[in-house]
Formats: sequence, C-alpha cells, structure tokens
Amino acid sequence: MEHPQASEIRRTLKGVIKAGLCTSCGLCVSCDQSGLSRMLDTDFGPIPYLSDKAEFSPDPGTYCPGLAIDYPDLYQKHYGQLPDNWLIGHYQKLYIAHSRDPEIRSRASSGGVLSQVLIHLLESDEVDAVILARQAFPKRI
Ligand code: SF4
Repeated sequence: MEHPQASEIRRTLKGVIKAGLCTSCGLCVSCDQSGLSRMLDTDFGPIPYLSDKAEFSPDPGTYCPGLAIDYPDLYQKHYGQLPDNWLIGHYQKLYIAHSRDPEIRSRASSGGVLSQVLIHLLESDEVDAVILARQAFPKRI
C-alpha cells in the first residue's frame, strides 16, 4: 500500500529536477525504499530517475538541497551556534588580500589570490601540479 503522500513527494522532487534545482546529490535515489529509482548519466550530468513506485523515507523535505536547506539547523549542528552575520556566515578570522602581480590582479576575480597561491606552490615545488575544475557546458549536437 502506497504512502498517502508518496505521489506528492515524487511530484515535488520531479519539480526540483525540471526546474534545474537538482544538485545531483543522489540522496532521493538512495532513500527510495522501493529500490527502483536510479541516477542516470546524461549530457547534463547525473540526474535522478524516480520510479513511479518510489517511496521516500525519510521525507526529502529534510535533505533535498533543491527543496530547501534549513540553515539555522545546519549552523547549530555544525558550529553549535548561529553566525553573527548571515551574509558572511561562520568564520574564525577574516583577512583581505590580493595578488601583488598587476597582471594577475587585473585579470583575476577575488584579487587573484587563488592564482597567486597556486603559482607560489608550483614555483616553490610545494606541489607537482594543480588541477583546476571549471563549469562545463554540454554542446548541443
Ligand atoms: S535529493 Fe539530491 S538528487 Fe534528489 S532531487 Fe534533490 S538535489 Fe536532486
């Protein structure tokens, strides 16, 4: 016997996916008690396929980042307190910095700090290589 809210939950999650709010975390698929849902590989990355027989426990409203994130609860559980400033979030110390290389600074966002740190690590042989990931956009065929 299907849980009375199961179809509503499926409809809500499908709305998250259709609206492009799904982060592909896969929690809904792993919490489907029927075991019939799965992640699909697509040109746009992994997307959940939700079975029409899916039964979600616990309620995705408590974990799906596409639905909502309870930030006060998250802060309390992770830091044991709420942030002093909600725009900045939790921090221990704050610093302001920028690259001293005018070319890096003028071409980079955030003052070129990350670029300068990575260059330093490479030039000082602290690391052999760095890997930078960037957002990719699938090409239409
Ligand atoms: S739980 Fe994760 S995978 Fe499922 S719809 Fe929400 S964001 Fe997407």
